[in-house]
Amino acid sequence: MKVRVFIAEQLGCHADVAYECLRQLIMIAGWQTERIREEREASICYGDCMGPAVIVPSASIQAWAGLSDANPVNCGGLIVPDRCVLQGSNPPIIDPVLCAHFFMCGVYEKQPGMTDGTGIPGLGAARWGITQQAAVQHCSEQIAGLLRRALVLQTPAPAWPRGKTWALALTHDCDQPFRYRPRAFLKEAIAYIRDHRLRQAALSLMKSGYSAVRLVGQDPYWDSWQRWEDTERALGVRSAFYVATRSRFSAGSDVRDVPYAASKRALRDHVVRLHDQGWEIGLHASFNAWSDRCLLEEEVEWFEQCFRFLPQGVRSHFWSLGTGNREKALSMFAECGPFRYDSSFGLDAICGFRRGLCYPYRPYIAESGASTRLWELPPTVMDWGLQCAGKSRDDRLQAMRALIAITQQHHGVITLDWHEYTMCRGVMDGLAFHVAAELESIAADSGCWIATPGEIIAWCEEERWKQVS
Ligand SMILES: [Zn+2]
Repeated sequence: MKVRVFIAEQLGCHADVAYECLRQLIMIAGWQTERIREEREASICYGDCMGPAVIVPSASIQAWAGLSDANPVNCGGLIVPDRCVLQGSNPPIIDPVLCAHFFMCGVYEKQPGMTDGTGIPGLGAARWGITQQAAVQHCSEQIAGLLRRALVLQTPAPAWPRGKTWALALTHDCDQPFRYRPRAFLKEAIAYIRDHRLRQAALSLMKSGYSAVRLVGQDPYWDSWQRWEDTERALGVRSAFYVATRSRFSAGSDVRDVPYAASKRALRDHVVRLHDQGWEIGLHASFNAWSDRCLLEEEVEWFEQCFRFLPQGVRSHFWSLGTGNREKALSMFAECGPFRYDSSFGLDAICGFRRGLCYPYRPYIAESGASTRLWELPPTVMDWGLQCAGKSRDDRLQAMRALIAITQQHHGVITLDWHEYTMCRGVMDGLAFHVAAELESIAADSGCWIATPGEIIAWCEEERWKQVS
């Protein structure tokens, strides 16, 4: 039985968006919905309603229209946009749909000073509480509470498989599988000479020469990838590696794109072997892929040619989805690729819940409510963000434990992103080794489901609903 949702007419042109947002909140809580046009038949109503339904309080249409100008306000310990606090309510009452929409669609990301040049929320975004709260989860729980109290609904679908109360997805972006790259540095030097940037050219030439000398020994970054694999095998878990097929030397690339060729034999064989042994391999889309469907289609084609299978997930290099409407980029991903999910709504120099969530959801276009037709697995902790989260190792691990505690409280999933080259003593003070030790104790927690992103999305899309049918 689906939850019948009625959106009050007072929402005007925002009704479709409000429904889509409310649908996500109810879905996270474990029920599916249908939208109905007759308020008397509704089981839940957003806005003023005459029927016997559960009523979700709604802010005014003016609050919806002016949401982008909202300021953060602390409401009972939760940082929310002031526009979603109902006028005249005391103690203050929050409109959970408007609040969730604000975070889920990244409305704050478009405010001045919130993001860096590549469109990723920076330190300033912490004023919206994203480093210490998952606001959308609170909104979902508030609505679930209303539904449970007022209705004899069927039991909600479980958040996770039997016996599991939270989940962890380990992921790796493959940016630099080789530290010593004589040919790549030489190519870079030539490009710099053409560009009359002689200092950089000289530096790249030196790196090329040094790399050539070091080639005879082991490559520490290649060893690091192997170490991640060994660590996971020993723990009996699997992760996802996102591999790029467009390098910075390919047409249409950006200088920030990866310096390796996925077709290099050692790399290709390694990736195919990992895939055969249960690891997930996704596409690490190039820096510009979001802006040009031809680039993305080419990267998918190269992926298939190289590895002989298709990726089910995509993550943009540098979390790059442009600085405008990022959901439109996801719609393009859905149209042009074989993808079931994206996992690009991550953070760089901070850790936390960029879109207010620690559970997979279906991103939608903020203006229309139209679905992007992709799932999103929200990344929570990236290596560099955790490195920046404290001055000592203990501070950093404490920051990660705090995010895990929030995730556990919401029965959510924490998604870690550790670059493949990080399990190397010289990289970020060896932080990856300590995170791996944390993983060992998490793997011993029988309540935690450690799964690949693909498994988690399959659970959220299909398996969890079979438990109640
Ligand atoms: Zn990357």
